[in-house]
Amino acid sequence: MLPGFRSVPFDDAGALRDAVYEDTAAVMIEAIQGESGVYPLAEETLLAAREACDETGALLILDEIQSGMGRTGQPWAYQQTPIRPDLLTSAKALGGGLPVGACVAAEELGDVLEAGDHASTFAGGAVVSAAALAVLDLVDDATLLRRVRELGAGLSEDLLALDGVTEVRGRGLMLGVGLSGGLDAAAVGADLLQRGLIVNVPEPGTLRLLPPLTVDSAQIERAVGLIGESLLSYATV
Ligand SMILES: *Cc1c(COP(=O)(O)O)cnc(C)c1O
Repeated sequence: MLPGFRSVPFDDAGALRDAVYEDTAAVMIEAIQGESGVYPLAEETLLAAREACDETGALLILDEIQSGMGRTGQPWAYQQTPIRPDLLTSAKALGGGLPVGACVAAEELGDVLEAGDHASTFAGGAVVSAAALAVLDLVDDATLLRRVRELGAGLSEDLLALDGVTEVRGRGLMLGVGLSGGLDAAAVGADLLQRGLIVNVPEPGTLRLLPPLTVDSAQIERAVGLIGESLLSYATV
């Protein structure tokens, strides 16, 4: 929405390269697009973004608001890719329920902004900052992250085995579930809510699952059972 941004087609490494030139300030991408339905970018596209930035001096910004904070089984989604950003953004889970956002810079950019350059009335508040530091401590835990990877892999496999599911995209506990043509994801999502499971429908053919990282395997099994029942009830209509 900010003026000055140009967008390029999804996962088009060539178009991305062509859009970056000497006057480009920055390239901003999500390694796994969240709001559009959980679409991981190909390594080739991420590498093209990194190379285009390195060649022109533009900064590479990764939006990790949805994919970060352990969601994919690493603290940040970029850690499962061959690239490293110059800046990353975080929010949502960062505050563990309190409202906070952060822009994190690589060390060499650390002194570009000084206190007051990028002000906001409540920015840097002590309570939310303490909460964010506490959540970062909790998420930076090898056992928790391994659990997220294992539970996510199992969930993904179980979902893929359901009638009506054509693909499962994403990593860890950030999953987009593609439904077969005749199924109306919005209806399935509303039906699942009636059955006691909250899922999100980011686009007509996709359910998005972002369970809390504290989810256990019994809850996952129950969720898969409910999704299976719901898909079955719509398939027969
Ligand atoms: C929620 C979200 C944002 C916006 O975050 P704010 O903290 O509301 O500014 C940006 N990017 C992604 C991927 C999000 O999920």
